[in-house]
Amino acid sequence: MPESHSSALDLVLPILRCPVCEEDLSRADAGLRCLNGHSFDIARQGYASLIAGVRPTSGDAAPMVEARRRVLGTGIYAPILAEVVRLATDQVPPPSIVLDAGCGTGNYLAAVIDALPTTRGLGLDSSTYALRAAARAHPRAAVIACDLFGPIPVSSASVDLVLDVFAPRNAAEFHRVLRPDGMLVVTRPTDRHLGQLRHHIKGMVGIDPAKEERLERTLDPHFDALHTVPTEYTARLSPDEAADLVLMTPSARHVTSDDLEGDAAGALPTEVDISVLTTAYRPR
Ligand SMILES: [Zn+2]
Repeated sequence: MPESHSSALDLVLPILRCPVCEEDLSRADAGLRCLNGHSFDIARQGYASLIAGVRPTSGDAAPMVEARRRVLGTGIYAPILAEVVRLATDQVPPPSIVLDAGCGTGNYLAAVIDALPTTRGLGLDSSTYALRAAARAHPRAAVIACDLFGPIPVSSASVDLVLDVFAPRNAAEFHRVLRPDGMLVVTRPTDRHLGQLRHHIKGMVGIDPAKEERLERTLDPHFDALHTVPTEYTARLSPDEAADLVLMTPSARHVTSDDLEGDAAGALPTEVDISVLTTAYRPR
């Protein structure tokens, strides 16, 4: 197992701030501390917890994170990853700090900063299981546990690029942390995404057709859309891969082993439509 990259924290420490009082943070003992004495742990795996008050419980569970890691390892989502990297690295000048909101296992963030040799990465998530994986994703990627729906513990106008890939949006905070000439890249599924699986498995949650409208309403006060790129293809699946595609989504909570194992495994769709949109935005 590769070692954690706790030193990546030092690369982004100047832009981190205390989630309680918004003061600067520095290393103290084995954790981080602000000028007012609020202190925060750094986990053995290398990620810091910048959470004020009660820890959010919305984070993804261990089996979901494991399924996601297996799927990302198969290459089924490789064209999506390539599109995110292309949009993120297309900027002139290249971003010096990339923040991935809802970074999951860190594989999108790692791919983006790997393509940009001097860029520092900062991944945010609320799932302990995801954070443990993300902390090992890349030597230049620091990882922070925080509440993605609350204030982001990062200084204003300090980030060049915010990535949001299949993750919750916090438009006002994305706008605040971005530099005025920064960029936001959002990747989300269309209602055709994984259609065969959604059709086959009753417990699987559908994609709300009003989702795009809601996204626009949420982002419009803060961002101008520059361009949107669709990524559409059909992927062939083994029964294990089909099961993992279900288990990696929030639908996993509504699906039982009867849907995916034994005889049910043989009846799973052998191909599935992948359909996502990636949009680049400029702050207003
Ligand atoms: Zn403080």
